[in-house]
Amino acid sequence: MSIEPSASDRTEVGPNQAVAVGPNETVAPNAEEEIHDPDDPEPSTPGKQESDAERDAWASEYDAWCERLDAYLLTADGQRRSLELQRRLELANRLVESAETRAAVTCELCGAPSQLHRTPARWPWYKTLCPACAQAAKYVPAAGR
Ligand SMILES: [Zn+2]
Repeated sequence: MSIEPSASDRTEVGPNQAVAVGPNETVAPNAEEEIHDPDDPEPSTPGKQESDAERDAWASEYDAWCERLDAYLLTADGQRRSLELQRRLELANRLVESAETRAAVTCELCGAPSQLHRTPARWPWYKTLCPACAQAAKYVPAAGR
């Protein structure tokens, strides 16, 4: 078992960039994104050409490793690393929420202050546009969405 952010938690931030989240917080790059006992690495996954017996042996080894990992996560070091990763995920989620909030008021064509617009059709397309871009694209303000 490993704990790492899923693809949906990732932002378009370079691998070595620290990102400001709040006035006193940053998300700094960290090579320790996975939590496991550094002295007890995860068993490597068997290849497709491995026999059933080899895959069964791997499954047993993996189950035993998961039990050791659970025990490690109860140690002071394991708990410290788990809490640190949770804190980083919370900060990353706040970054995503901040970006979503800004995207809702930023024209997707020119970046000017904007609001949600729609095509006048019965089954409309929606875009976040400034008044000038909305007029050029024949979109109208969308109310109540
Ligand atoms: Zn615009």
